[in-house]
Amino acid sequence: MDDLALRLLEDIHATPLCVSCGSRRLACTNWDFLKATRALVTGGHAQCTYEKCQVCGVLELLVRLRRAPSWDRVEPEASTRPHSPPSGPR
Ligand SMILES: [Zn+2]
Repeated sequence: MDDLALRLLEDIHATPLCVSCGSRRLACTNWDFLKATRALVTGGHAQCTYEKCQVCGVLELLVRLRRAPSWDRVEPEASTRPHSPPSGPR
């Protein structure tokens, strides 16, 4: 995770941010903000919701802290798949 993603993670602890407010707050481009968002979402730290931004009041896609799930995280099926199919010699 890069520095910008870490700063974004700290910011959304306090307030969910839309792209324009977030990039303004982090003093970066919209593109850099989206890259940081993607890093947080794929890392399971953040999620995106369509809500009214608390900063600018616009209904926008917000980056917010991911709610902790009440169940254990389910492993993706691909990683649990056996490496080779069971095929005995004939
Ligand atoms: Zn905003």
